[in-house]
Amino acid sequence: MSNLTVDVGHAVSNQTPPMVGHNAFSQDPVLVEALEREGAGWAHDHCAEFGAIVGSERVAELVRLANKHTPELRSYDRFGNRIDFVEFHPAYHALMAIAFGAGVHCFAYNANRPGGHVARAALSYLWNQAENGTGCPTSMAYAAIGGFQMSRRLSGEWLKKLAAEDYDPGFKPMSEKRAVTVGYAMTEKQGGSDLRANSTTARRIGREPDADIYELTGHKWFFSAPMSDGFFTTAQTQRGISCFFVPRWKPDGSRNSFFIQRLKDKCGNRSNASSEAELAGTWAVLVGEEGRGVRTILESADYTRLDFAIGSAALLRQALNLAMFHAQHREAFGKHLIDQPMMKNTLADLALESEAATLLAMRLAGALDRAEHDESQRRLTRILTPVAKYWNCKRAPVVVEEALECIGGNGYVEEHPMARLYREAPINTIWEGTSNMMCMDVVRAIGRVPGTLDAIMDEIRLGASADRRIGAWASEIETIARDRELAAQQARRLTEMLALGVQASVIARYSSGQVASAFLETRLEKRSGRTFGTLEGSHDLDAIVRRASLSEAPVSRRLTVEGRGRLAKSLDEVAQRAVEASGLVQHGGDAPPVK
Ligand SMILES: Cc1cc2nc3c(=O)[nH]c(=O)nc-3n(C[C@H](O)[C@H](O)[C@H](O)COP(=O)(O)OP(=O)(O)OC[C@H]3O[C@@H](n4cnc5c(N)ncnc54)[C@H](O)[C@@H]3O)c2cc1C
Repeated sequence: MSNLTVDVGHAVSNQTPPMVGHNAFSQDPVLVEALEREGAGWAHDHCAEFGAIVGSERVAELVRLANKHTPELRSYDRFGNRIDFVEFHPAYHALMAIAFGAGVHCFAYNANRPGGHVARAALSYLWNQAENGTGCPTSMAYAAIGGFQMSRRLSGEWLKKLAAEDYDPGFKPMSEKRAVTVGYAMTEKQGGSDLRANSTTARRIGREPDADIYELTGHKWFFSAPMSDGFFTTAQTQRGISCFFVPRWKPDGSRNSFFIQRLKDKCGNRSNASSEAELAGTWAVLVGEEGRGVRTILESADYTRLDFAIGSAALLRQALNLAMFHAQHREAFGKHLIDQPMMKNTLADLALESEAATLLAMRLAGALDRAEHDESQRRLTRILTPVAKYWNCKRAPVVVEEALECIGGNGYVEEHPMARLYREAPINTIWEGTSNMMCMDVVRAIGRVPGTLDAIMDEIRLGASADRRIGAWASEIETIARDRELAAQQARRLTEMLALGVQASVIARYSSGQVASAFLETRLEKRSGRTFGTLEGSHDLDAIVRRASLSEAPVSRRLTVEGRGRLAKSLDEVAQRAVEASGLVQHGGDAPPVK
């Protein structure tokens, strides 16, 4: 204790230390087991190294800085030239470098073996426990890899640089960069959910050997990560909404004419820039079939929707970790909070929710991996994607709120990571399709894509042999799902029941007996209240809390990287290079203007 502390009057006691130095992978049995079960056990060591980085003090500090010193738009240089440059704190670039360097966006493709999407899902789950603003660009890059594969023009150097485990923030043409990032800009002022309402127009200006070239005129009302090297967008041609790729630089080396009007002052996701942009004679490449732009974009959306189901599961997990950590350290009324019966009940209830969200997201990633060779898994992916996106994203805000309250006043103060999680929690319900859009998509899939309902019912019924309540739940779902009118009117209820059905099925088969018993009784039989902490007394709350607790010994069966391993060292180098490349220094103090 320093003299200064004594001089100002009191010694500090009973405050919880920062939650750093843990391994977010190795100390999470639910994730370790799911990775193995869903076919990516081979990625164990990479995840373990990344888990140590995610839990490190250094990353916690970078996250704090990147969210405190938020991006700023520099529209003009000092001479009055329009530059449209978004300036980020170096901590943001360091975080981007860690995430992209570890392959959070591209691991599925580069792994080139079964289980790639599951392994990448685990990395994304880990990263989203650390930071969510950079989770937006990693998610869009993951989706864009598929988008690039659809175009002859983009499937070469663009794809190679997008799928690089590297990050290069340099403001220069793609050909001069080691790695690129990609955004998606569809939403306009008059409508986001209904993309057919887009008013931006596209005029064909030529044909090159590998693509049709257009000029775009209009605006985009929400455009995140506008410093990306290119972005997918939508615009009207004579044949209707079509999908385009807009590079930041034209092939002749001049800057493309698209203008960032202002940055959004957002409630959360503050380290990430989201902008409004004007397209004025913007050079663009047609992607996919003309007039089928909504369908083309939706193919990418399946990946981002999976990733936001994962991202929200990660938010739940991190909120639970923080609440649990606090309850283990803080004393009130003569005991640690975790030993107070009502707090234990609340934490156990939150732990059920977190485990269920994680398993739902990882099951979807597993289905996606198998979809290429297994028709039933392809159909399952079609319906489970909107189901998981809806449910996990909807659960995040309520879970985070309860976890925040477990921490008390400190949780509501910006110095604590929980305040950021609280502001972060609602966004995943909105972008990449709002909750209602997800439920409409579930009904659409059941009505229009043969076999999707059977695929998800089969998945749910796999759990029926472990617990008969699951069979009864499945029958109840089918009564609604097989009646089209009822399904449309009760789309939210149906989607929720499907989500709970899949969660129950996976939990009954693979979780601990204590978790399965409490989950089935409270979620399927509905024997609990409307807030968390209302589990009945018969459940083994100690066992549930113990399973979810980070303080348990690491469960990894192999390597547990507590120190600085090979991955950490290589990410240090990527981060250092990124910070050096991020400023305007390379351009003699100014970004190049639009010609
Ligand atoms: C931080 C942030 C970043 C974003 N970044 C991007 C980006 O990078 N690129 C991009 O393109 N967009 C981005 N968006 C926009 C986002 O995708 C849209 O806000 C979203 O798609 C919803 O569109 P909207 O805001 O126009 O709402 P609307 O479409 O007007 O919907 C408003 C409400 O009405 C509901 N609704 C609409 N139609 C129906 C119906 N038929 N039945 C029942 N309910 C209905 C919706 O579910 C929603 O709850 C971002 C948004 C935010 C907040």
